[in-house]
Amino acid sequence: MGTLLDGKVVAASLKEETLKAAKELREKGIAPKLTIVRVGANPSDLSYERGALKRMEGCNIDTEVKELPEDITQEDFIKALKEVNEDKNTHGILVFRPLPKQLDEEVIKYVIAPEKDVDCFSPTNVAKVMEGDATGFAPCTPTAVMEILSYYNVDLKGAKSVVLGRSMVVGKPVAMLLLGQNATVTITHSKTKELPAVCAEADVLIAAIGRAKMVTSDYVKEGAVVVDVGINVDEEGKLCGDVDFADVENKASMLTPVPGGVGSVTTSVLAKHVIKACTLQNK
Ligand code: NDP
Repeated sequence: MGTLLDGKVVAASLKEETLKAAKELREKGIAPKLTIVRVGANPSDLSYERGALKRMEGCNIDTEVKELPEDITQEDFIKALKEVNEDKNTHGILVFRPLPKQLDEEVIKYVIAPEKDVDCFSPTNVAKVMEGDATGFAPCTPTAVMEILSYYNVDLKGAKSVVLGRSMVVGKPVAMLLLGQNATVTITHSKTKELPAVCAEADVLIAAIGRAKMVTSDYVKEGAVVVDVGINVDEEGKLCGDVDFADVENKASMLTPVPGGVGSVTTSVLAKHVIKACTLQNK
């Protein structure tokens, strides 16, 4: 098989970088801090939160969880978010989404302070991703994809890159980040014609569709680099990606596993973003 793109190795490298930066900030009397805003107790939010809190602790970043009731009103949520915005000790804010139905994300996204918005909820940060403005914060998952490609020295300049999926969380931002690295990018989705053939053109293939093992070897060019963002459960109840790993591993030159790939890097990017936010706010 080709090279396994090991998320844990990338996470360890990012941790080293982040710890060093956290130490430097603390020596200046600044304690970097992430505040998580969670509404209710959705199991997937809780699971991500546990991982994030552990990662922040490992990176010497302080944390606070603002747990709000599931039935909170829009007015009360906005009040709570504004309090976190104004908290001088908080440098990074993560709001778990999707929010419950009574909360209007289209309004709330304008409330979060862009300089503290470490996972690209604010339209200001979305625009900065589009503009390639490095003072902004791209969402953590697409950034994790880029960190993996960078760690393993994948040359993106002029590379034919195909992104499977066009969500605001993964597909679109990862496409912009690839473009920022001078890749030639095609974005595909559920209406794309001849999808396997389009994907099989890619030097770099990013799968973010949420369809268990849909990407088989027909979708992959010999020697391609394949990054699997998907997190799904297969017919045996096991965690799996969008890529059929067993079918693709002998065709791809580099491939991420699931679990142990992109998902392992996401909270490390979150930590890196908190440090970046803290540094920018204390310039
Ligand atoms: P969405 O459901 O928001 O978007 C899925 C995208 O895939 C859509 O653009 C959709 O197309 C496209 N798609 C769906 N089915 C097909 C198909 N059969 N053929 C081609 N395209 C298809 O998902 P997300 O972007 O939020 O997440 C994608 C995956 O990544 C999920 O498995 C999710 O669990 C995982 N994920 C992993 C994270 C991590 O940390 N590793 C974090 C976030 C997500 P269309 O627009 O036409 O409907």
